[in-house]
Amino acid sequence: MDERRWNRAVVTGGAGFLGSHLCERLLSEGSEVWCVDNLVTGSRANVTHLEEHPGFTCVEADVTGPGCLEAIPGPVDLVLHLACPASPADYLRLPIQTLEAGSTGTRNCLELARRDGARFLLASTSEVYGDPLEHPQREEYWGNVNPVGPRSVYDESKRFAEALVTAYRRTHGTDTSIVRIFNTYGPRMRAGDGRAVPTFIRQALDGEPLTVAGDGGQTRSLTYVDDTVDGIVALAAAAFPGPVNIGSCEETTMLDLARRIVDLTGSASTIRFVDRPADDPARRRPDTSTARRELAWSPRVDCAEGLKRTVEWFARSALL
Ligand code: NAD
Repeated sequence: MDERRWNRAVVTGGAGFLGSHLCERLLSEGSEVWCVDNLVTGSRANVTHLEEHPGFTCVEADVTGPGCLEAIPGPVDLVLHLACPASPADYLRLPIQTLEAGSTGTRNCLELARRDGARFLLASTSEVYGDPLEHPQREEYWGNVNPVGPRSVYDESKRFAEALVTAYRRTHGTDTSIVRIFNTYGPRMRAGDGRAVPTFIRQALDGEPLTVAGDGGQTRSLTYVDDTVDGIVALAAAAFPGPVNIGSCEETTMLDLARRIVDLTGSASTIRFVDRPADDPARRRPDTSTARRELAWSPRVDCAEGLKRTVEWFARSALL
């Protein structure tokens, strides 16, 4: 793995769940960090603890706006583009903004990287594989996405963003990379963001029934946030363009996840089965051989440990 250090890094979506952990990591490694976020799904509270750091600046701006990144002083040497609504509840509520974050937002971020000859990284997603017909998913798999289904605003936004990033690399020689992140969880997720881990934890802590979609047999490969951040930082430092899958190979059914969370919280909650959302993928597990080969990356935190840390964080936050 390359050892590369950044003088000035820009993290769009830096006040979100994943972005705030990345800002923290880059600051701890000595980079100056500019977080750009319009707080549509993120929160200033996620970065309050960083505000005192002399190397940290948080700019409240929409990355899809004209000239929105011009105020960032150069030269910037790393642009990490994470700004985009990411939970199904958020992108279904913000469909046009989600498509704009992947299109105009990605273009504005690419232009910033091009201005200064910076390394660029797009936070893409396992959702580009849609409801996959191939299992596990390799980067070579083109996916199975319904272009007019409700989830398409997110899936196609990221697919378009990947195409745009690739066009900048081919046309302008921009130093780009694409990471396809699989379901990541951990501290600082919003309890009400609709994703399975925070939803189940909140329901268990409140003694409510855990709402499992369908028969709960659908799987995800849940990745603890520290491992995802390691993978993103490793890809940024490498000369590799990707795309690279970053995700755990530990596949869990949603019913098993719900039961584990009930056990971990010591809750008396029951399980309630609810309708499965349209186009919900049945199975999800990455083939991570590219990440192992190119980045020497593999996850270090297993689901038992990651869930324990996350439950502890939610339980502590509920007391504040
Ligand atoms: P999040 O909602 O917590 O973070 C997204 C951040 O982007 C928020 O702070 C939001 O306010 C900001 N944002 C959205 N649109 C913006 C805009 N137009 N201008 C400026 N800021 C904007 O979600 P997250 O889970 O932290 O996801 C971060 C990124 O990682 C997203 O791009 C997401 O698609 C990608 N990703 C996440 C996961 C995951 O499991 N967490 C999986 C795959 C991909």
